[in-house]
Amino acid sequence: MVENFLAHLERTNCAMDGTFIQAVSEVVRSLEPVLQSDKRYETYAILERLIVPDREIRFKVQWVDDNNKVHINNGYRVQFNNALGPYKGGLRFHPSVDSGVLKFLAFEQIFKNSLTGLPIGGAKGGSDFDPKGKSDFEIMKFCHAFMRELHQYIGARVDVPAGDIGVGSREIGFLFGEYKRISHNYDGVLSGKPYAFGGSLLRPEATGYGVAYFAAEMLKAELGDSLWGKVCCVSGAGNVAIHTIEKLQQLGAKVITCSDSEGSLYDPKGIDLPLLKTLKGEGRRLSLEQYTPTRQGSVYTKKEAYPPHGHSVWTHPCYAAFPCATQNELSLEDATILLNNGVKAVVEGANMPTMPQAIELFQRNGVLFAPGKASNAGGVAVSEFEMSQNASMERWDIKKLDRKLNDIMCHIYKQISQTAKEHGKERNFVDGANIAAFKRLSEAMILEGI
Ligand code: NDP
Repeated sequence: MVENFLAHLERTNCAMDGTFIQAVSEVVRSLEPVLQSDKRYETYAILERLIVPDREIRFKVQWVDDNNKVHINNGYRVQFNNALGPYKGGLRFHPSVDSGVLKFLAFEQIFKNSLTGLPIGGAKGGSDFDPKGKSDFEIMKFCHAFMRELHQYIGARVDVPAGDIGVGSREIGFLFGEYKRISHNYDGVLSGKPYAFGGSLLRPEATGYGVAYFAAEMLKAELGDSLWGKVCCVSGAGNVAIHTIEKLQQLGAKVITCSDSEGSLYDPKGIDLPLLKTLKGEGRRLSLEQYTPTRQGSVYTKKEAYPPHGHSVWTHPCYAAFPCATQNELSLEDATILLNNGVKAVVEGANMPTMPQAIELFQRNGVLFAPGKASNAGGVAVSEFEMSQNASMERWDIKKLDRKLNDIMCHIYKQISQTAKEHGKERNFVDGANIAAFKRLSEAMILEGI
């Protein structure tokens, strides 16, 4: 049945949808033991309906740069499934963005949002606009032009976008300003807003902190161990990577690597976070190369200096690895090196950063592997807290938010670990996450009817 379904999936999607097919295939294979257990899945064609987005919106974004040159980019919003609540998911501004990438991210988002237990559906959007090297005014003009199209499809109870790669609180601020001007409506239509107007405390930190909380809970429950004194490797140097490093350090770990799209940094004394933030914090995009002159012993490796199927970040012996940059960044070659160096846990901060063969290798060899749809769900959870605060015109203090974030991450870990056990897949957190998310989602789809 699963093989037939995967053949149908390949036939009904185009070549551009490679990451989407990869994401769906993983989920469907996990679901094999549950699909036969309830006749309603077939009666209501749950699987067939789950892999087709409710709608894929594509629009033209026209804007003018500081030299009065006209530019045109593609804008997208994929509203995948709203059975559990308003569509919710980030916006990505990166030249690699196309409809296939967003379809994969939106599909993953439905499952992630389901795992949080909160009332949010799944969506994703963005543009092939490259924010690198643009002035603040150019970013603002692009965001305004993007929102002039997007505004007609979103709303506080319809679809609530947030940030992702290339979109932080600065961009969300510009997008919100334009939405407000067009709609005359001051509501929580976007999350990840600056705290000055409607944003939530802890939202910038939430994804990364949540990744570290998830890792701590998993290590405690599975190995009776903690992060204290452990050497960890992180990839990426953006929002998720920086806050993962921050929380890992607060929990007593020593993080020795990070990276960006140009190269990687190794600091045997442990990453100097204030220094890293001066280069990469809050939307800054300076080169990691500038870290080494002031930090004795640190080494910068340019991406070209490393073989095409591997990443120098993963060559250093570590107890736990945290891929926090982008999809399919951790290859089988990387996994082999990590394994040979004795890695005990791999916890995803990014969405689907680990290639399928690498996941299989980790699982076969007893490495604890946490999929991003579970371990990076802290960001969207705190986004939902922002929606709640906006709807009730309240502001929650940081202690309450941090406690709720930690509770949600521990709950997600317990839920997926328990589900895996119940289905005879102990310690397979990929299957546990896919099955647990599917059960909640499919129940809602059945109860709502066709
Ligand atoms: P940022 O834009 O803040 O940072 C992304 C980082 O990854 C940067 O260091 C960037 O380098 C690097 N990067 C991007 N593309 C590539 C590439 N092709 N190869 C190597 N490095 C690359 O994004 P976030 O930190 O917000 O997002 C990182 C990941 O986490 C993504 O997968 C995102 O979907 C996921 N995520 C984010 C959430 C959030 O709350 N922000 C929530 C849940 C998941 P450079 O600066 O050179 O571009």
